[in-house]
Amino acid sequence: MSDNFDVIVIGGGPGGYPAAIRAAQNGLTVACIDGWRNRDGSPAFGGTCLNAGCIPSKALLESSELLHRAQHEFAAHGLRVEGIAMDIAKMQQRKANIVRQSTQGILALFKAAGVTPLQGRGRLLAGRQVEFTDHAGQMRRLQARQVVLASGSEPMALPGVPFDGDRIVDSWGALEFQEVPPRLCVIGAGVIGLELGSVWRRLGAETVVLEALEQLLPMADGQVAKEAARHFKRLGLDIRLGARVTAAVVGEKEVTIRYTDAKGEHSVVVDRVVVAIGRRPFTAGLLGEDTGVQLDARGFIEVDEHCRTTAAEVWAVGDCVRGPMLAHKAREEGVAVADRIAGRYAEVNYRAIPGVIYTAPEIAWVGQNEEQLRAAGRAIKTGSFPFAASGRARAMEAPAGFCKIIADAGSDEILGVHVIGPMAGELIAEAVLAMEYSASSEDLQRTIHAHPTLAEAMHEAALAVDKRAIDALNR
Ligand code: FAD
Ligand code: AMP
Repeated sequence: MSDNFDVIVIGGGPGGYPAAIRAAQNGLTVACIDGWRNRDGSPAFGGTCLNAGCIPSKALLESSELLHRAQHEFAAHGLRVEGIAMDIAKMQQRKANIVRQSTQGILALFKAAGVTPLQGRGRLLAGRQVEFTDHAGQMRRLQARQVVLASGSEPMALPGVPFDGDRIVDSWGALEFQEVPPRLCVIGAGVIGLELGSVWRRLGAETVVLEALEQLLPMADGQVAKEAARHFKRLGLDIRLGARVTAAVVGEKEVTIRYTDAKGEHSVVVDRVVVAIGRRPFTAGLLGEDTGVQLDARGFIEVDEHCRTTAAEVWAVGDCVRGPMLAHKAREEGVAVADRIAGRYAEVNYRAIPGVIYTAPEIAWVGQNEEQLRAAGRAIKTGSFPFAASGRARAMEAPAGFCKIIADAGSDEILGVHVIGPMAGELIAEAVLAMEYSASSEDLQRTIHAHPTLAEAMHEAALAVDKRAIDALNR
């Protein structure tokens, strides 16, 4: 095998593997180096997303939501289910199978595209040389014309609450519990904390979520955050805001978490703790001497708007660079870089990156929220439509939440769309497309939506922007 490649990608997560495939599609010779190892030591492409993030969390969210619906919703359909039982081992096995299928799929895609997969560690050296060390410790020097760094991120640790891989775990550990902890504490009410808290709460854990900020979901639209808080409470998630965790005391059978809030010091005693206070860029061992690649003050690889690093012909994408830590953002950047390397036009529209929280109800948004736009002094108009007025949502026994569209008061251009409700993560795709094409609310109003669908809520919300909704009161 040659040691020379047009492109070497370091990192095989959703930033790196699509970059490698697109570069190969563009006729370039490509190697993708990835160092991920599972708990049993086996290597796997796919990075955090496929192995320990998006996919396994969605598998458990689905299983736990089914249990919750069977327990709390079936009766409304006239379905009586007796003796429903949980088999966590089977649930975890299903999740593991989904992960394995997905990660092995990447190897098949590489083979078809002609990408050389290299499992082990990659280290960039000066002059776009790359040192590759396989999992057996064998080292090789490779040479690339262009290098793409896609090394991802890792969970942040909380001082005073050290991970022990058993009682105090990170998000990966929380996806691997083999039994339901009777009492669980989740530290951090961000997207990951709320999703994992929902999983174990639905499966029966008494769950306390401690969040340092006074406000829940500060990045979401205020009305959405308020509605979400109601549903989390109904689920039984005990979310305590303004609660800053300071220490953990690990006893023989339990863990005591100490935290402070406006009223003073408190503690909560639980069986397991999930620390979900955020993630930081992972660049350990990635850069040799004199590569010319600079990191910023927070440890992210410094890049411009085209993902060019400070070193010529070295690019960086995904969680290791600025911007939201999301798989689809990583993917878009990876593909765009592979196209730019091949001299093709490519752009990532950072103003239209959707965010989704896979709780129940689901939460999704794109663009700016009402608070941000008002703070910026923008003249806006808004339209909302409640799922309670949607025939399909009622038929699904899922009438909670609403769809909200914000448009410029003058031009009518859509500036933000915020959904909380059934399948919000799917519905938001229409809004992303609309914003990608700078659509107005009138464009959505004039688009035919099939009946009865949840997507009609988007249509009616667009009509409500101009007080022309048909199926709801125009307030
Ligand atoms: P990663 O996926 O972290 O991949 C980086 C890869 O590079 C890893 O395999 C790593 O081992 C490897 N690597 C690093 N350094 C080297 C080196 N020197 N040599 C060789 N290999 C190296 N995002 C969403 O959009 N939707 C979701 O629903 C979602 N859910 C999530 C749930 C959880 C629990 C978590 C933790 C994250 C979730 N995310 C979600 C975030 C998402 O996983 C990340 O944004 C995404 O994985 C980033 O992709 P990446 O390619 O930049 O990095
Ligand atoms: P995210 O960055 O979206 O993953 O969310 C992580 C959350 O953890 C943020 O909302 C932080 O405010 C919160 N957080 C960080 N440190 C602490 C702490 N010591 N105690 C409680 N919450 C914290």
